[in-house]
Amino acid sequence: MPPHLLSIDSLSRDRVNHLMRIAARMEPIAQRRQVTRILEGAVLGNLFFEASTRTRVSFHAAFCRLGGSVCDTTGFTFSSMAKGESLYDTSRVMSGYCDAIVMRHPDQGSVAEFAAATHVPVINGGDGPGEHPSQALLDFYTIDKEFSRLGKKLAGAHVLLTGDLKYGRTVHSLIKLLSLYAPMRFTLVAPPGLEMPSHLIDLVASRGHRVEQRDSLADDYADVDVVYTTRIQKERFTAEMSEGFSLSRDFTVDRAFMNERCGRDTIVMHPLPRDSRPDANDLDVDLNGDPRLAIFRQTDNGIPVRMAIFATLLQVEELIEKDLRPVRWFVPERIGTDDPVL
Ligand code: ASP
Repeated sequence: MPPHLLSIDSLSRDRVNHLMRIAARMEPIAQRRQVTRILEGAVLGNLFFEASTRTRVSFHAAFCRLGGSVCDTTGFTFSSMAKGESLYDTSRVMSGYCDAIVMRHPDQGSVAEFAAATHVPVINGGDGPGEHPSQALLDFYTIDKEFSRLGKKLAGAHVLLTGDLKYGRTVHSLIKLLSLYAPMRFTLVAPPGLEMPSHLIDLVASRGHRVEQRDSLADDYADVDVVYTTRIQKERFTAEMSEGFSLSRDFTVDRAFMNERCGRDTIVMHPLPRDSRPDANDLDVDLNGDPRLAIFRQTDNGIPVRMAIFATLLQVEELIEKDLRPVRWFVPERIGTDDPVL
């Protein structure tokens, strides 16, 4: 079996737990207290054929923090795909140059097709509206860390997923991953036409979870533990859908929503980017600095989790502690100026 990470479908609960434990061991390196070279000499191919900041840069940084080097290409224009090269050929060629490959592509299933042509580990960095498994792993790691801090348990947790649940690949991967664990309650709130695909709802329900769909945030969510909100994926809309579409303010998670409808220790997550343009009505900036807003802790967690993915796929996880040295450069105590002290 080639050691790829293409979908949450290939992960068991044990495998996820193992990745979480490795990610925790990566924390001193991710937090810039220690340095390792366990991937010295290894080369990552970072292939992004769709817009990305976090996923591309954090996979790159994670590989560098393990001592490896990165080659990347962004967009079709500057790749041979613009000359008609197939996924099969690109895959075989890149595999001759690189020891691991991360790929993002606008077509669902394309990363799996690419991976089918190579024995070099391939990670799905997002395939259209399909999946985004590394995001789900870092989201799960974040929920686990936040719950430990708040003294909460996953069993029986209530998770509210809102926004574009149809095209938002991060929620597709996340709900699959969470459904591997003890029974939980999911409330899904999407604008009309952007509901979660029914096969995912059926899968989660068949695993013993309670799933409820609502069409508005104007409700009582006092017992919700996690509000996970997503951007409307307009780039995936058909021309017909785009015409006249605008998201009403009723779907916005902001300070008023959190104060009036949610609990005092409900955390807010978002895979980011949040659309800050006028009328986008995405996650509001008025929550910046609020300790419930976990979005930047979530992005920070992308580093240890992606390091853990590389370390396990390239089978060096047993070497982590053997190779650590202290950091010698200046590292600020708090990274963001609005980061709350928890
Ligand atoms: N960054 C996430 C993704 O690539 C979420 C988003 O783009 O809205 O799926």
